[in-house]
Amino acid sequence: MSRIQTELIDLQFLGYPLAIAAYLLDDGVEAALVEVGPTSTAETLLRAVQARGVPLERLRHLIVTHIHLDHAGALGWLLQRLPHATAYVHPVGAPHMVDPSRLISSASRLYGEMMERLWGEVVPVPQERLRVVRDGERITVAGRTLLAVDTPGHARHHHVYLDEATGVLFAGDVAGVRMPGAAYVRPPTPPPELDIEAWQASLAKLRALPIRQLALTHFGIYDDVERHLNELETRLLDWAAFTRNLVEQGVSDSELIQHLRTYGDEEMRQLGVEPTNYELGAGYELIALGFARYWRKKLGLS
Ligand SMILES: [Zn+2]
Repeated sequence: MSRIQTELIDLQFLGYPLAIAAYLLDDGVEAALVEVGPTSTAETLLRAVQARGVPLERLRHLIVTHIHLDHAGALGWLLQRLPHATAYVHPVGAPHMVDPSRLISSASRLYGEMMERLWGEVVPVPQERLRVVRDGERITVAGRTLLAVDTPGHARHHHVYLDEATGVLFAGDVAGVRMPGAAYVRPPTPPPELDIEAWQASLAKLRALPIRQLALTHFGIYDDVERHLNELETRLLDWAAFTRNLVEQGVSDSELIQHLRTYGDEEMRQLGVEPTNYELGAGYELIALGFARYWRKKLGLS
């Protein structure tokens, strides 16, 4: 009987459930994590790994879909505590894990005073502990093969990983944000790398893969793959059109945030969806700022 397992770990971000997930893969010989969360939840992560009967020495592979701090911020810190582990990162993201100064300054522009409380310290990843993963590469970890697929749109440094034996797709943020028990899918569109055309092309790539389940970082595992991806794309394009119109009218960032919040919350209310948890995975503020930057650049307004 196979001992190969995939388990969701809730990182209890800021004390809240259902905000950030990591996935623990274990075959009894070695273990891997897909997504590691920020340093602020790294102690919680390691306790949860051990609580599942996996000794920390077994944890050899730390794979991140992209380098946003809620997915990868803990990499450097974890490598210090896990001397036999290797980090797996997209080629565009890798230099910014080795020298996180630009990652930190970019995040500081968005999060300001909240940086430390939200994410904790961002420890540099030693070059020799990092493996750059290419588009289409297969990596063998914890008794399975994961296919890396370059999927820009949410960020340029984004991979999804398909577990080819089970059809589970570790989707990062390119497949959107969804809460357990709800069908509603929200597009996380933060600045500065939102690219709607690239995102649509990435969704077309996903539709061509033999995916049986979507394992989202925000949050959980879902079976209705086609419906989910269609809903994400529809809302991404709808919100893109909604924000474009407002940006063309010259609204301020704060007005755009308020308009999108009203629009999105009304839609959720009509659908009977509880909006609270969606704010932790993808808040209106960053979504609106991402669209604002995208449109101002695209329309030559900045
Ligand atoms: Zn992200």
